[in-house]
Amino acid sequence: MASVGSHSLENYRFKKLLEELKSKVGRGTELISLYIPPGRPIHEVVNGLWQEYNTASNIKSDRTRRNVQSAIERVIQKLRYFKKTPENGLVIFCGAIPQDGEGSERLEDYVIVPPEPVNISYYGCSSRFFLDPLYELLREKESYGVIIIDSSEASFGIISGRRMELVREITSGIPGKHRAGGQSARRFERLREMELNEFFRRVAKYADELFLGRDDIKGILVAGPGPTKYDFLDKDYLNYMIKQKVIGVVDIAYTGEEGLREVASKSVDILRGVRHMDEKRIVQRFFKEATVGGGLAAYGEDEVRSLITRGLVETLIISEGVDRIRVTVECGICGYTYKYTVRGADLYASEAELSRSRCPSCDNQSLKIKEKKDLIDEFIELAEQYKVNVELISTETEEGEMFLKGFGGIAALLRYRV
Ligand SMILES: [Zn+2]
Repeated sequence: MASVGSHSLENYRFKKLLEELKSKVGRGTELISLYIPPGRPIHEVVNGLWQEYNTASNIKSDRTRRNVQSAIERVIQKLRYFKKTPENGLVIFCGAIPQDGEGSERLEDYVIVPPEPVNISYYGCSSRFFLDPLYELLREKESYGVIIIDSSEASFGIISGRRMELVREITSGIPGKHRAGGQSARRFERLREMELNEFFRRVAKYADELFLGRDDIKGILVAGPGPTKYDFLDKDYLNYMIKQKVIGVVDIAYTGEEGLREVASKSVDILRGVRHMDEKRIVQRFFKEATVGGGLAAYGEDEVRSLITRGLVETLIISEGVDRIRVTVECGICGYTYKYTVRGADLYASEAELSRSRCPSCDNQSLKIKEKKDLIDEFIELAEQYKVNVELISTETEEGEMFLKGFGGIAALLRYRV
């Protein structure tokens, strides 16, 4: 298996599957969505489905009743493959999907073991599949450490995807800003300053304990309601290894649990920025190599494909915005085959043209499309076969946009100069 860069390949594939499912539309309410949470016994689900089957016998329209009942039967049949519910639960979509206009429905089913636990129990019939809980899984999954600090307390938390956890809370013991009567203002300030520094030292020590050496923590956010958080950062109490992981400072109104929730909702842009940093780095490296003479870079579909198969590519860089289809054509008479690439939008016109073309080998009008494959998938499979790293680049950054527009979105970093 090829190693995968910042953008996980599984994530990309899962996203594509969801997009495909999203495009499926049935007639009326004929599409079944079934969510089985971890731990729920399969036989219990099957019993429930037989009840739904009986209820469906009341549906007035013959065709709808037939379609819904056969979909339920199909789901039950699929469940027979499972002795027990998988650890992350199980999701099944099934229903009659029109393939090409009225009356062309075909029963389709999709059995999905989610990449993370999906803890909902759901059965529903609609004209579309119910996908929201699966889309939820596509959100950021990296973990971030959070330090919330003001002069009276500090909280430490971890945010990973939708989950957040308050790990520890400490108080500073520093009295409020109002000094006791009889105390000199300067002495009060000096004492307060000392106590604050002592508190900062403790906060830094807890940060070490909680975040140091945890490779799963991609970055650290420092937050708080007042200026104390800046003070804390300026005074350099944090271990340098933690300090270099600080990716942002967030202004919030609360501390503790409430504050952590605020950080999670306010830091979406910061976290997206971090994800983009990895992408930018790889694209910039490519730009640099591509613009010097004899650099270790190449681009263009044919060029990169050929370099991969010759074992010369270290990293394949491919844009998610590449919208092209790799078509395999075969002659029905002499068996001659060839491949070509077409833009997604031109596929239909290209098929029509093919039906009017003659076979380059036997000259008959007998060319047929044997296979259609997303170009990104073709390249990823090729990369896996040749043990090449893959970096998927979004089009959400300026670099990503330039990479797609200026270089066609397919490039390679090379092992050797060629
Ligand atoms: Zn032929």
